[in-house]
Amino acid sequence: MRSTLFTVRLRLATAGGVSAPEDLRTETLTSPDGEVRVRNTRPLRRDPTGAPHLPGTTIAGSLRAHCTTIPALRDAFGPAPGAETRTASPIQVLGSITRTTTPPQHRGRTAIDRHRAAARTHTLHWNETLVAGTEFDIFLRWDDATEEQLTALDAALGHWNPRLGAGASLGAGRAQVIALGHRSYDLRSEAGLTDWLAITGPADYPAPHPLTPEPPPAPLLQRTLRIVEALHIGTGTTRPADGGGDGEIADIVTRNGTPIVPGSTLKGVLRSRVEYICRVLGAPACEHADCGHCRPCLLFGHGAPDENGTPGRARIAIGDAEIRHARREQRRHVAIDRFTGGARNQLLYTHDVITTGEFDLVIDHLGEHEPDPTDLALLTAALDDLHDGLIGLGARTTAGYGTVELTHPGPSPARTDLSALLPPGTP
Ligand SMILES: [Zn+2]
Repeated sequence: MRSTLFTVRLRLATAGGVSAPEDLRTETLTSPDGEVRVRNTRPLRRDPTGAPHLPGTTIAGSLRAHCTTIPALRDAFGPAPGAETRTASPIQVLGSITRTTTPPQHRGRTAIDRHRAAARTHTLHWNETLVAGTEFDIFLRWDDATEEQLTALDAALGHWNPRLGAGASLGAGRAQVIALGHRSYDLRSEAGLTDWLAITGPADYPAPHPLTPEPPPAPLLQRTLRIVEALHIGTGTTRPADGGGDGEIADIVTRNGTPIVPGSTLKGVLRSRVEYICRVLGAPACEHADCGHCRPCLLFGHGAPDENGTPGRARIAIGDAEIRHARREQRRHVAIDRFTGGARNQLLYTHDVITTGEFDLVIDHLGEHEPDPTDLALLTAALDDLHDGLIGLGARTTAGYGTVELTHPGPSPARTDLSALLPPGTP
């Protein structure tokens, strides 16, 4: 018998990690003026020592999907989920270790989302995430593989660009293989068996050799947008007014001090507009993003349709966009709108806004299948509506806030072309 061990070193290109929803923490926070908010924090999955952990099932699932079209590796990670016959996976995921010294960070998901007319602003959603640059070593074992199979696996691992954990459609958890090593042990020979038995832990696994990471695939769509009118994308939190003045200042979402447009905001606005366009053209678009078969559900992902249904992953990923050359100002208004999360009579409210700046909207294609031209046409049409000021980003769009425009508006599909792509009644 011959056993082969692989060591795969992965590096996170974007913050991410596999979370443990069953360990959700809920805290109640009270602001200085007595407003009560609930904060839900979804922690990372951890091993028994408390270190952030990448579960073997996550790794195997991602590798199975990646290798499914390679003949020498078909079924090497076991049958696809839902297959009729269950067989053991020839390749075993022995485990993984997280090589990191940077503590995980907490990221708030913006409280203002596509349903912002509904009162969601009193709940803050936080995710504990590993920072970009975090590395993992993953260990695989394959017994009695042929040379052809080992060569195919080595090549496939070098091209593996997984998105691990939740939030893939928001650009989270994008990873690249940066080093790879493998060694075969002939267990029928005394030398091979002696070396095999000397393996006591990860330090004895094959040392990975650096490789040049694959450049990420070209985005499906990339456009630069310029801020035309004050943009406020709130964190849902406030801070006391500067210099002890009245009221509070609503914070904006930043990363390392740079204002950002969160991927969740961009995705929410585009989804809501794509749903609208579908309805106008007579194509199905469900109300609650959970039917699982209308075009917006397939494109942007969906929740579970019912107790027995499974949520579906999006076909696209939209990451956070950093705002360049941002000019930050404060605007005051009387706080009697939903922006504040409730009526607060006569209270002067101040919020941070970005008045000028630009950012890149990058939409990546996910999955093994070719992008669907209808998806691209719908996204382009939604972006045109954003450019035309029919929709805006962030808070107070009805007051003209959050207007943005494309720096290089391009040709776009006419509505008549779209309606040909989307015959009534088809998803
Ligand atoms: Zn749907």
